Formats: sequence, structure tokens, C-alpha cells
Amino acid sequence: MDDCIFCKIARREIAVKAVGMNDSAIAFLDINPVAPGHTVVITKKHAATLMDMNDADIASLFSLVRTATRQIKAGLKCDGFNIGLNQEKAGGQAIPHVHVHVIPRFDGDGGGSMHSIVRNPPKENIDAVYKKIKDAEPVKEQAPEPEPEQEAKPVEKEEDRTKKMLKDWELDL
Ligand SMILES: [Zn+2]
Repeated sequence: MDDCIFCKIARREIAVKAVGMNDSAIAFLDINPVAPGHTVVITKKHAATLMDMNDADIASLFSLVRTATRQIKAGLKCDGFNIGLNQEKAGGQAIPHVHVHVIPRFDGDGGGSMHSIVRNPPKENIDAVYKKIKDAEPVKEQAPEPEPEQEAKPVEKEEDRTKKMLKDWELDL
């Protein structure tokens, strides 16, 4: 997507402070951090929400979320994290390109948990809510077709690949 800021980052048209990367995702420091080390992890390919992604890309995105989380913890010695996505306008999504927020938490930082995002308890009982979801037309998985098979490449150690990709990225900053 031409005008999408995260696609521009993926195309290296905008420099970022990358803290991790794999073949299909990039983790970098948020420019408006709510905490030290606040990181966003984006897909290189444009997708508006998780619902628009195939299984392989989701696996890859969350694999990098894990790696970035470990790297941040190693560097900042934080005590915990909030990890999540704002999805669609009602969920507070400001940029319509999938991004996972990784927010480091420190003992006594005054922040809340996922339970502090919204206070909108159901007016119906839980059985009625459950019935609506259960009785809805079953959703098909509809995982998009995987990318065509690429030529087999020599196996490289994951750590070496990550280092190379990050180094390569730095040269463009
Ligand atoms: Zn995009």
C-alpha cells in the first residue's frame, strides 16, 4: 500500500530503530513510547488486521514478538510486559496495518492490565452472550493460499540470519 506508513517502513523508505527482524516481520521502537522500550512488531506484507493474514505469517509475526520481548527484557531488565493489538477503529487501531504492541512493564510503574482497557460489562447474562456466538454462522478458516514454494536455500542458523538482517538494515539508516 503506497501511503501506508508501516508499508513505507517495510520498504525502508522510513528509518526505524529495529530491535529484531525475520523474513516477514520487523520489530522497532515506537516513536511515541508509553514506556521505555515500547516496541511495535509489524508484518512486512500489508494486512489490515489479524483476520486478513494467513497462518504462516501469523506464526512468523508472533515468533518475532517472542524474540523481541526476550531482547527487550535482556536489555532493559523490565519486570513484565503487556502485549496486544488494537484491532479496528472501535479497538483503537490508528494505522490500518497489523502491528503488535510490546510494552515493557516495571514494578510500581502505575500501569494497569488488559482489564483496564474498557469497562463495558455485558447487560445480558453470560449464557445469552455465549448462545449468540455459538449460534452464529460458523466462520470458515479461509486461510489465504500460501506463497508459491521458493527454491530451497542452504539452512542457516536463525541467530546468524537475524544478525545479518539487522546489520543490513542499519546500513540504510
Ligand atoms: Zn501497510
